[in-house]
Formats: sequence, structure tokens, C-alpha cells
Amino acid sequence: MQLTIDQSNKSVPAPYSRTNPFHAKVLKNINLNGNGSNKETRHIELSLKGSGLVYAPGDALGVVPQNDPELVDALLEEMHWDPETAVTINKQGDTLPLKESLLAYFEITLLTKKIMQQAAGFTENAELQNLVLNENVGQLKEYIEGRDLLDLLRDFGPWNATAQDIVSLLRKMPPRLYSIASSLTANPEEVHLTIGAVRYTSYGRERKGVCSVLCAERVQEGDTLPVFIQPNKHFRLTESQDKDIIMVGPGTGIAPFRSFIEERAVTNATGRTWLFFGDQHSATDFLYRDELENYQKEGVLTRLDTAFSRDTAEKVYVQHKMLENSKELFAWLENGSYFYVCGDKLHMAKDVHNTLIDVIEKEGSMTREEAEAYLNTMKEQGRYQRDVY
Ligand SMILES: Cc1cc2nc3c(=O)[nH]c(=O)nc-3n(C[C@H](O)[C@H](O)[C@H](O)COP(=O)(O)OP(=O)(O)OC[C@H]3O[C@@H](n4cnc5c(N)ncnc54)[C@H](O)[C@@H]3O)c2cc1C
Repeated sequence: MQLTIDQSNKSVPAPYSRTNPFHAKVLKNINLNGNGSNKETRHIELSLKGSGLVYAPGDALGVVPQNDPELVDALLEEMHWDPETAVTINKQGDTLPLKESLLAYFEITLLTKKIMQQAAGFTENAELQNLVLNENVGQLKEYIEGRDLLDLLRDFGPWNATAQDIVSLLRKMPPRLYSIASSLTANPEEVHLTIGAVRYTSYGRERKGVCSVLCAERVQEGDTLPVFIQPNKHFRLTESQDKDIIMVGPGTGIAPFRSFIEERAVTNATGRTWLFFGDQHSATDFLYRDELENYQKEGVLTRLDTAFSRDTAEKVYVQHKMLENSKELFAWLENGSYFYVCGDKLHMAKDVHNTLIDVIEKEGSMTREEAEAYLNTMKEQGRYQRDVY
């Protein structure tokens, strides 16, 4: 832990932050998906005891991950490097044993144009020399996509480079952010996450998301994870307890809404709550089903609409459920409801956005432009908020 000097000139522990993360103990780490699911979504509970860290519903947690030891071993083996060689890791001249630096300090799963260009200085490989030429930038981009440092080192040897030369090309590992899935009021000194394991095959090799697969495969209860709070001013549960909220959160997008619902349950809010959830299969992928159905029974969750895309011949997504309920949805909006969206930025958030305009246009008997203006006004009023990634 870093120390700072306070006004009375005494050393006090620096508050935990991105550069000084808190080592939070893992209290629980379970798979929320059932047997036979195509997915693995971890529910992780961490202890914040003694950290002084606080958060509000809507905030994210930063996690500082470590690389996969198998991938690091493969790199060491490929290059015949001695794991214990000391390497300088930053401009300040700090050093670490090579293996540790590859595990904990450097990003080894992503390539950039700059890495490729600089690496070309350490090999005479004609293919790489050709790839980094300005006129071949398109091919370079294509090469980088879905490949990592191990591919680069395997593809373009022989290398005339020391371990130091190669690690000097690398960037520092960036932390990953996760929408917080718990309410601090409901779970004092705890923070919960909902993490989807990222796994895919690319160029004949199985690839694993650095942080999500660390959490899925290597983090056990009792271990610690370095974390910090990443406040999100633009995604906040309204403080007006009597206001209605509509939440659209398929897949891991459910995370902040579990926090919102928990918070509303403990604060006895009177506003209505409506959740749209979706995933592939109801039997295996209905995340937090029991909790949500209990909240519904207790009246904390007024409405729960679900869309399971692979249970029916025709794929059904959350936006279809919004359309099916367009009259009531618009009535909620007219009544001043807040509208929150969390999850996939690429497809879902766009589809939900367009569907919301469709609903307003249809049920408010407006032109497209008027419906868009209506949504813009909601945005200005802070009543349309998104946490998408
Ligand atoms: C504000 C915010 C909130 C978030 N909240 C959550 C959350 O609640 N839950 C959650 O699970 N995630 C959340 N994320 C995403 C999370 O931060 C990570 O990006 C995610 O877990 C992947 O990280 P990783 O280290 O496991 O994977 P990485 O090692 O970073 O790998 C992911 C990368 O792999 C590549 N990739 C993935 N699939 C393929 C494929 N099929 N083919 C080729 N390349 C591919 C892509 O380039 C992708 O960016 C959030 C992100 C942000 C910014």
C-alpha cells in the first residue's frame, strides 16, 4: 500500500485507486449458467472490508488481471527465454523477473500497428518487413485482428532480439471494468460482479479473455483480486424513490440492474420497476432467475419480461418484447419513467435505441423526428441512460 502525508504531517494509507488497487477477498465465485449452456457467466462476490471503498448503483469495478500462465509458458518456450532474467518494465527503471512481468505487468494478448512496426526492427523476416510497409496497412490490420504476441513471435522469426527488446515493445496491461451487480446498502462491505467468460478460437488456437477467464478458471474463493471503484456519473439510479424505472439488460447487461433492484428493495422505493432480460435459453441462461422471481412476488420488481433467442424457431430479443408491450411502455415514459440500457454496444444497444423511437412514434402518434426529439428530451432530463460496452 502506498503512503501519503496528510495535513498534520502523519503518514496515512493512500485511498485505493486504479494505481493503488485494493486486494479484495473472493467470497463467492459461481457459474450462473446451467449444464449444457453455450455460455459461462460468473457471479463473483468480493469483500471490501477494511478498504473504505464505497460505490453507488451504476458504478463499475475495475479489476487488474494477470495473464494466463499457460500462455506465458508458451512464450517462454517459444523464445527459449530464462523466466528469471530481470527485465526493465517502465521508464522509472523498475525491474521484474521476465516471467512475472509477462504474467502481471504486460499486455500479451493484443497486437498493435506500433508493436508490429517496432518488432520488424528485430528480424529480417521478409514477410514482416513487407507487412509493415505503409502501403500494406490494410493487410497489417487484418493480421493483427485475432492474433497475439505468441503468433507474432512464431510467424516472423528468426529473432535477433533479447527478452528485454521484446517486452519493451509491449504495453502495460489495462484493467478491465465491470458494472457492479450489487447494492452496497443491501450488502455492506461487499461488491458483486456478473462476468461473462470470453472464449473463442482464432487461427487454430483457443483464445481466452484475460480477465474474464482468469475469473472463470483460476480465481478461487479465498483468493484476492486487485480492484478499484470506477464511478459512472452518467449511469445513475434516480434518487427519486417514487419514479418508475425501466431497465433493459440482456446477458451480463443484467448486472447494474441487480444493483438497482437490490437498492430499491432495501430503500422501500415506491416507484415501479420493469426489467427486460434476455439470453439464449431459458432453461440454462436465465441469470438470477430465482432472485428476480422473488422480487417480482414481493412487488419490488413490478414487471419482468424475458426474451430467449434460441428457444423458438424465430429469434426473440429484448427489443421484440419492448414492441409487444409498446402501449404500456409508452404510458410509463409519459408518466416520467427513467429508461436504462446495459450490455452489448454493437448490436443490442442500437436495436433497443431504434425500437424505443419506434415505440414513441407509434404510441405517441408522432413523426420519426418528433419521436427522436422526445427521446433527446428524455436524455437531457437524465431519463435515458446507457452503460454499454
Ligand atoms: C463500463 C463497462 C462495464 C462492463 N461491464 C461488464 C460486465 O458487467 N460484465 C462483463 O462480462 N463484461 C463487462 N464489461 C466488459 C469487460 O470490461 C471486458 O471487456 C470483458 O470481460 C472482456 O475482457 P477479458 O479480459 O476477459 O478479454 P480480453 O482479453 O480483453 O479479450 C476481449 C477481446 O477479445 C476479442 N474477441 C472476443 N471475442 C472474439 C471473437 N469471437 N473473435 C475474435 N476476437 C474476439 C475482442 O477484441 C475483445 O475486445 C464492461 C466493460 C465496460 C467498459
